[in-house]
Amino acid sequence: MKPQLGQLPREAAHHDPQGGFRNPWPGSALPRFPSLIRWGIERRVRGIPPDPDPSVFARVDPAFHPPRAPADALTVTWIGHATALIQIGGRNVLTDPMFGDRASPLRFAGPRRWVAPGVALDALPPLDLILLSHNHYDHLDTGSVRALCRRFPSTPWVIPLGLGGGIARTGGREIREIDWWDSVTFDALTIAATPAQHFSARGPFDRNRSLWCGFVIAGGRHRVYFAGDTGYHPEFPRIAEQLGPFDLTLLPVGAYEPRWFMRPVHLNPEEAVQAFLDLGGRARGMMMPIHWGTFKLTDEPMDEPPARTMAAWEKAGLPAERVWIPKHGETRVLRET
Ligand code: ZN
Ligand code: ZN
Repeated sequence: MKPQLGQLPREAAHHDPQGGFRNPWPGSALPRFPSLIRWGIERRVRGIPPDPDPSVFARVDPAFHPPRAPADALTVTWIGHATALIQIGGRNVLTDPMFGDRASPLRFAGPRRWVAPGVALDALPPLDLILLSHNHYDHLDTGSVRALCRRFPSTPWVIPLGLGGGIARTGGREIREIDWWDSVTFDALTIAATPAQHFSARGPFDRNRSLWCGFVIAGGRHRVYFAGDTGYHPEFPRIAEQLGPFDLTLLPVGAYEPRWFMRPVHLNPEEAVQAFLDLGGRARGMMMPIHWGTFKLTDEPMDEPPARTMAAWEKAGLPAERVWIPKHGETRVLRET
């Protein structure tokens, strides 16, 4: 099953003529700075619902195949948030490597980690590929990038346009920047970047200078879709048409409240289940909800995303065995679906 990734449509609507990038769909306008102030005031006046004690998130020992799984196997281990170790096509792939204590530019402030990484950075098996979806602090952690580049100096990084300079300065040697719908092949694996509705920024003056994306990973007999950070957009069916069908789909389900502010950039659980259906999930494949339970980024309670995902899943009439709510550190070995 070799993907025909070379012939995909090249469209540039997400390239902003003023420079940088933008979301090309109607209704995808991002909240502006005054919205941030309004959010802050609302939180203070109304308050936000309480969180559970962090001990509700049990961390379990991973069970991936060391050092590598057989070429026809597919395993996935949730390290936390959007960080996952995927064993596919006999190779080890790591997504959005975030092992730091805070998702923040500051050491002493900003969202703090709730649960230790399910696999410590030093305990990772040899990595064959690292994927990075965009530059937000909960996905791109400079300390993690530096440590990975030291430990795996020749491992390639596949990243969206505009992020290469930063990764190179942090120690990356083999860097492949790709645009939406572009793909790159490394012996056993082919990676394609897919559209996502989101934005990028590390500071006040670099908004949307680098691109954001999801990824399709094809290797052996399997295909995996990792959605990155995204709001609900109209391209999910086309992603499946061009690059599917998927055996495993990792979709973000957290960081969605308040909706008036977060809707353009983050799926809520109901939208994530709809996206899974748009991606052909009624017929096959497993959904794995990610981007929850690790950093307190927004107003919903920390344990709400998985509960709402399950409720939406049941409402959609999807089979219970095809959604997997992972525990931090947990490994799933996928069987044919
Ligand atoms: Zn983000
Ligand atoms: Zn995020």
